[in-house]
Amino acid sequence: MKYHYQEKIYASTLYIVPTPIGNLNDITQRALTVLSHVDLVAAEDTRYTGLLLKHFSIKNKLFMLHVHNEQQKTKLLVEKLQDGKSIALVSNAGTPLINDPGYYLVRCCREINIRVIPLPGACAAITALSASGLPSNRFCYEGFLPSKTKARRDILRNLAYESRTLIFYESPHRLIYSLHDMIKEWGSKRYIVLARELTKSWESLYGASIEKLLEWVLEDKNRYKGEIVLIVKGYVKKVDANILDSSTLRTLILLQQELPLKIASKLTAKIHGITKNTLYKYVLNQQKDDK
Ligand code: SAM
Repeated sequence: MKYHYQEKIYASTLYIVPTPIGNLNDITQRALTVLSHVDLVAAEDTRYTGLLLKHFSIKNKLFMLHVHNEQQKTKLLVEKLQDGKSIALVSNAGTPLINDPGYYLVRCCREINIRVIPLPGACAAITALSASGLPSNRFCYEGFLPSKTKARRDILRNLAYESRTLIFYESPHRLIYSLHDMIKEWGSKRYIVLARELTKSWESLYGASIEKLLEWVLEDKNRYKGEIVLIVKGYVKKVDANILDSSTLRTLILLQQELPLKIASKLTAKIHGITKNTLYKYVLNQQKDDK
């Protein structure tokens, strides 16, 4: 690999600039250079970013771009970019667009061929995943679960057979509800890691089955204060390959996401020419094993 050191700030370019998720030392040298030299910094919260820039003795113009004004302000920012200005996009913490504003702006820029340069940097999901001890070769990022129980349960149900490692952001006041719902939809034995206050003084990572984790957090409120990422082991198929082949299992999983179990088993049996009782028994056994 060949390293590059110099940073040329290009005109008519949008820079995506990650900022620390807690520890200020995690800002990159390149982020500081870009934030110092672009024409304008578009920030989710100008007061917040103002303090960050001040800490690093950077003086630059700030422009507010948050979820509620993103579409309207994008037009203005795109005009500035077309006028030759360089702009850095930052959020309050971590990588912009990852559960933060910026998607609409980036999409507009890409559509009209305005150059977008992403800088690598802090992201809570990836930081947590890297230390979770769970498979990191295939993972799926789900952001925050919905606050309403029904919507949350629906999403968890649809993820029941997801075999990739799952990543969620969670807030302390919803954590207990989410853990209860995970148990209802996936059983209590799945391995889960709670990564809290990453990169800060009270950083902690705790891994256990969902039921044990729930017990552990209920013992002490301090165990789930602050910012949280949950990393969950993906579904592991407990099937003898001789009983159900992978395409039968896939049909069953897909149909089961949309239909009641009995109908899903019946249709899968018909499609693959096996008895519906074999399938039904198989699914019930799986569910028993999961609880
Ligand atoms: N853009 C950010 C990123 O790249 O990670 C995420 C922004 S999202 C609005 C904020 C959520 O990210 C928090 O509620 C928490 O779930 C997670 N998060 C951010 N910083 C964290 C940290 N230091 N430790 C654990 N989770 C964190």
